Amino acid sequence: MLRKVADQWYSLEKIDDAITLITEPHVTPWLRCNIWHIRGRDQDVVVDTGMGICSLREAAKNLFGQRISAVASHVHLDHVGCHHEFDQCLVHSAEADGLRGSDGYFTLVEPDFDPNDFSLATLGGERLGPIISALPSPDYDLNSWKIQAAHVTRTLEEGDVVDLGNRHFEVLHLPGHSPGSIGLWEASTQTLFSGDAIYDGELLDNLVHSSVEDYVRTMRRLRALPARVVHGGHCKSFGRERLIELADGYLKKFD
Ligand SMILES: [Zn+2]
Ligand SMILES: [Zn+2]
Repeated sequence: MLRKVADQWYSLEKIDDAITLITEPHVTPWLRCNIWHIRGRDQDVVVDTGMGICSLREAAKNLFGQRISAVASHVHLDHVGCHHEFDQCLVHSAEADGLRGSDGYFTLVEPDFDPNDFSLATLGGERLGPIISALPSPDYDLNSWKIQAAHVTRTLEEGDVVDLGNRHFEVLHLPGHSPGSIGLWEASTQTLFSGDAIYDGELLDNLVHSSVEDYVRTMRRLRALPARVVHGGHCKSFGRERLIELADGYLKKFD
């Protein structure tokens, strides 16, 4: 049983004047996602919201602007835990039901999901222990954890634009890891927020709703993207050279 209590749940790292990376160091590495906050002139955007163990709004209240939208790169449990705290939620149409809380197929939180001893079929059904390595507070009950339903205010499609006033992010539909995986691409700075479509770690294409065929197409597309920096859904950010290496590493399985 977990007894250790975390001093602080979220860790914030300023990347530049407008971008902050928020992570949850006490979430098991398999589920520790990157939460990206982007400050805009007319509104802020947060890409993904972590596990929903504690309030993200509260933890980042000094960072988040008055107007803020929460985008879901996709709706896996490690990316949408705090979306319910935001009035404006954006998600690809293919996974909107997952964010609305009506479909555990997309979040991967099926009825037999055990937060004290979780496993993912893709990891060989191996029991991986609790989803967290410390409690957020002494009286926190992990058994009460669930993904709360969020209010979807806009469904996204390929080519849509998320407009921050001074910055414009184009929606790239990047299916494969999951059907509604998206990236946010800012052409003027050659910056990509890529979710789990690509990150500098082991990529998963064997989840219940993954499609290898789609993933191959997505990877070819990403390989050709003139990205200067990629901020992924997990692991460290990287540049064009590494993007090509990662894409080639995936694609060579299918040559
Ligand atoms: Zn995922
Ligand atoms: Zn993930």
